[in-house]
Amino acid sequence: MNVRDAELIRGILEEAGLQETEDSRTADVILLVSCAVREHAETRVLGRLTQLASLRKKAGGPSCICLCGCVAREHGDDLLDRFPGLDLVVGPDCYRDLPGLIRSGTREAVAQSRREHYENVPSVGRAFPRAFVTVMRGCDNYCAYCIVPLVRGRERSRSFSMILAEVEELRERGFGEVALLGQNVNSYRYRGTGFPRLLDSVAERAGRMWVRFVTSHPKDFSQNLVEVIAARPNVCNQVHLPVQSGSSEILRRMGRGYTREDYLSKVRMLRRAVPDVVISTDMMAGFPGETEEDFRSSVTLLEEVAFDYAFLFRYSERKGTRACGMENAVPEEERLGRLHVLQEVQRGITLRRSRRLVGGHRKVLVTGEGKMPGQRIGRTEGNRVVVLEEPSLDPGSFAEVRITGADGWTHMGSLERVCDR
Ligand code: SAH
Ligand code: SF4
Repeated sequence: MNVRDAELIRGILEEAGLQETEDSRTADVILLVSCAVREHAETRVLGRLTQLASLRKKAGGPSCICLCGCVAREHGDDLLDRFPGLDLVVGPDCYRDLPGLIRSGTREAVAQSRREHYENVPSVGRAFPRAFVTVMRGCDNYCAYCIVPLVRGRERSRSFSMILAEVEELRERGFGEVALLGQNVNSYRYRGTGFPRLLDSVAERAGRMWVRFVTSHPKDFSQNLVEVIAARPNVCNQVHLPVQSGSSEILRRMGRGYTREDYLSKVRMLRRAVPDVVISTDMMAGFPGETEEDFRSSVTLLEEVAFDYAFLFRYSERKGTRACGMENAVPEEERLGRLHVLQEVQRGITLRRSRRLVGGHRKVLVTGEGKMPGQRIGRTEGNRVVVLEEPSLDPGSFAEVRITGADGWTHMGSLERVCDR
């Protein structure tokens, strides 16, 4: 989401006549896009601010340092007091104000919530051949641990026609993949139209482009949606379905709106309709009140579902959320210890699932260069990374490859043939 927001900021600033530089030492304006979901991300961006503030004092240094994103919305004015080298604090709904603020040379925080959709901002995506299209912003779910509804505002959906127009533009520009983006895409609703219909229409307009979406809330993940994934060949067989915990009691306290059994039955529904689907998840360790037994339920859930991939976190207290200050907090070291157990278990599962591909064939979208000279990186429909020793392949092309090895989420592949456009 922040990658997409950075693209919007780039679009707004370029339209106002500013030019991007790759080297922060020569920049007049430096913008940081921040994330407030966990304390660690916040600490890192504030550390970076302190570093940049020292540049500010040097001759030829930047004349404006601006903190954008959710940390800006969370702390607002206070940041100006805490960081004397900081000039602007601009929240996620206020990026249209950036050119004016930068030019005026004021020291100011502008971070209120607005029903902003950023329509008609020129899209400056640098990630060809993959692009994001935002379908909704904000979130109304108020999961007990989560700061997102407090910093990204109320849920609002973009119009059907604006989304389709953006998708068509990407197709015409030769993109290979579009990912529909929202905190909970399943809450998409525009004049009575829900997400399954939107996805179906996007798939119809996307031509040869692959279509993905992120993120789905399990409580709203429906049979209708599964049918669209199964029926549309260009909708990727890949779903990110954050579970958060394997314990129904913890899920209840998180306010997630589903039990362990509900989650498992949604996974079964999905696998029945789309047998080779790649499923990933988010899970956290050490939510307040998580007992040893609750934690075991999370471990067994990882094993039972056998996720292809999982993003694992330790619970981080966020001020203003319902969970902050809940009783029976799990000590920090215990959260970390439990996180390590989850990581260890999932590492084995990821590797086992990845190795199943070895010897088989997959279609990949070539996305760019690899780390070594001559290497190309591609993605499978399941979003797995494939490294190819094929310097002749251009980003944006599709190729049929044979998978020759797997190491975690990364695979090695050899080219069989380039696919027609
Ligand atoms: N809208 C998405 C999640 C956005 S935040 C969804 O509902 O799935 C991304 C992930 O960060 C969450 O899925 C959760 O696993 C994690 N997360 C959010 N708040 C957290 C917190 N306070 N501590 C630790 N992890 C958190
Ligand atoms: Fe946060 Fe829950 Fe909304 Fe996801 S659905 S952004 S976890 S409040």
